[in-house]
Amino acid sequence: MKIALCVKQVPDTTDIKWTEHNTIQREGVESVINPYDLYATELALKIKSNVPETEITVFTMGPMQAQTMLRKVLALGCDEAVLISDKKFAGSDTYATGLTISRAIRSVLPDFDLIVCGQFAVDGDTAQTGPAIANFLEIPQVTYVKDFESADEFGNLILTRELEDGIETVSVTLPSLICVLNQEFETSRARINGIISASKKQIRVCSIDDIGLVPEKTGIKGSPTYVSKAFRHVSLHNAKKYKMNTDDSVKLLDDTLEHLGVCENG
Ligand code: FAD
Repeated sequence: MKIALCVKQVPDTTDIKWTEHNTIQREGVESVINPYDLYATELALKIKSNVPETEITVFTMGPMQAQTMLRKVLALGCDEAVLISDKKFAGSDTYATGLTISRAIRSVLPDFDLIVCGQFAVDGDTAQTGPAIANFLEIPQVTYVKDFESADEFGNLILTRELEDGIETVSVTLPSLICVLNQEFETSRARINGIISASKKQIRVCSIDDIGLVPEKTGIKGSPTYVSKAFRHVSLHNAKKYKMNTDDSVKLLDDTLEHLGVCENG
């Protein structure tokens, strides 16, 4: 089975700073693998250890520094790594990111069976990228995946999904894309052999030309999303208590929200 594993590099900080375009300031900030993508990696490795002849190719779209993160994922037991990197990708929203990653997978691993994504990235937190990739590749998608149970005699994957009202077991035909939730267990750490083998592997870098995209379809030009405003969540630990009638409390709430820039009065 050929697995494409998508992992994202996210800022290693809760002290998020914004650019003049209301997007997250990523330059000069230490980065780590998105925590959900560690669980996605864990699930891909579990499939690899249960289904013979499985190979995992890790994909990330990001700056050249993301190679360090890719080597850490390779060290966990993945086989190949691809960095999708080009200045023309900068400013991509989830639509353009989904299209760009889908084109890279189509170019590098055209005969993929399964794409494994995390459910969310902790910085953007839209949960849109996985479904967007599935949409562009015109394959089925299964979200909120909790665990891999087995592969049946027809090659379908038996997976569990965690939903609000219970656990669902599904049989997934391939090719498909799955989005993986966090798990209760600790994620594995790389062993020394894995680290040595990862350090010797060549990471393939894909530019816009390598994946056959035009600048109008990616980066800022290919992004329909425009961030008009970004603001910091206000902690309720500083909440005040008031005793007043309903009309006054509605007015106070309106004024406070307007003051915080959440909505306009009137
Ligand atoms: P989610 O959709 O929540 O992530 C779900 C899963 O998708 C992840 O667990 C992972 O498996 C996969 N995934 C998501 N992103 C990637 C990736 N890059 N590589 C591999 N797998 C991935 N971000 C930048 O880094 N640089 C920019 O210049 C930039 N400019 C932006 C401009 C605009 C106008 C907007 C709206 C956003 C911009 N972003 C930029 C943010 C970027 O669009 C999102 O971070 C990205 O699309 C992923 O969305 P998300 O963080 O919500 O991830």
